[in-house]
Amino acid sequence: MNHKKIYMEILEHINKVPVIDTHEHLESEDVRLNRTVDLFNTYLIHYASSDLVSSGMGDNELAFLTGDSTDMEKKWSVFKPYWERARNTTYCKSLISATKGIYGIDDINEDTYLLIDAKMKECNKKGFYKHVLKDLCNIEVSILDSDIRCDKEFFRSAIRMDRYIKFESVDVIAEVEKQNNITVTGLSDWVEYINRAVARYKKVYGIVCIKTAMAYERILKYDKTSFFDAERIFDSVLAIRAKYGWNRLCDANLELKPLEDYLMHILVQCAAEQNLPVQIHTGLQERNGNYITNANPTHLINLFMEYPTVRFDLFHGGYPYSGELCAIAKNFRNVFVDLCWTHIISREFTVRLIEELIDTIPMNKIFGFGGDYCFVEGVCGHLYMAKENIALALANKVYKGYIGMDEALHIGKRMLYDNPKEFFNL
Ligand SMILES: [Zn+2]
Repeated sequence: MNHKKIYMEILEHINKVPVIDTHEHLESEDVRLNRTVDLFNTYLIHYASSDLVSSGMGDNELAFLTGDSTDMEKKWSVFKPYWERARNTTYCKSLISATKGIYGIDDINEDTYLLIDAKMKECNKKGFYKHVLKDLCNIEVSILDSDIRCDKEFFRSAIRMDRYIKFESVDVIAEVEKQNNITVTGLSDWVEYINRAVARYKKVYGIVCIKTAMAYERILKYDKTSFFDAERIFDSVLAIRAKYGWNRLCDANLELKPLEDYLMHILVQCAAEQNLPVQIHTGLQERNGNYITNANPTHLINLFMEYPTVRFDLFHGGYPYSGELCAIAKNFRNVFVDLCWTHIISREFTVRLIEELIDTIPMNKIFGFGGDYCFVEGVCGHLYMAKENIALALANKVYKGYIGMDEALHIGKRMLYDNPKEFFNL
């Protein structure tokens, strides 16, 4: 059989497979419907906007495009020169794919932008999520980052506890004290709160996993810290807060890393007790100007070793540290590879990565799709690409004689459906 025929047969099969989407950031449909949507303030919430900035767009220009102005001609004139520079990237291609899939328009250009904008406004009504996520995408369920009160017709929730580990601008201690009617007097109280919160989120809201995305702010290396050392730092936090207020914490130059490390170990222990998997952001960070080296999955190896009963779902194929991720997932029973976001970072890379994953790790450990979008159109554009990428990688393996057709179809279904379904107990 020639390559094209193999590819078409696999794609046809994959298009019929329902999808478990491992990771999304979508707002609820009600929130979306109450927003004034336009082509720019929706499509440029993230991803493509980062490539426009990378191509030279100024921050004020991006703010104008994502802002309230209803002057579409003006917005197009600001957008156009950067779109022409960056439209080659997969982030941008994903928008074109979404536009084609949902609005039936083949390209985003001078002749089509007003029409796309009009269609987007026209479609922004009740039932839009069902139309996109169910009718067009055949997604059985998506795991939603953080919204514990999510609509169960479409979503299950992942809980993010990062703000209780990495103290930032908000006085999270005061917030916890107020909401729970408790006084936090030391680290033991804080640890107890984290334990109780995770147990309650599971029992009351049915969360299916814990999610952490700290590679945006710090290195993923969570060293083992003693309770005593962590407690000393926590006591200093409480003392500075009591004397000068939370805002002075940043100026105090406290070395917080050992405390954060300690609390991450506590969180993973919680995951073990509650039998919840842990999703971890590894690899490329969204927006511009990040420390990519912070996000190398090799930093996490001590956690995989120390907590063999906890199952870890490592995001984004670890891009660009995907070879490292393959080696880790091959070594550890409890580490799984998630291709959420990866297909729209680079199609070429993801196709190669899937082929490499099939060579290196057992097929039950690959999760084929997570849209990772804040707007629903993106999920559709991304999924169409993901299905093509998976079909192409599998076709390449069949063509090279590495696997047979039946096995390729089996792996494809596992990646999109069976593996995440089993992993998250859905
Ligand atoms: Zn995400």
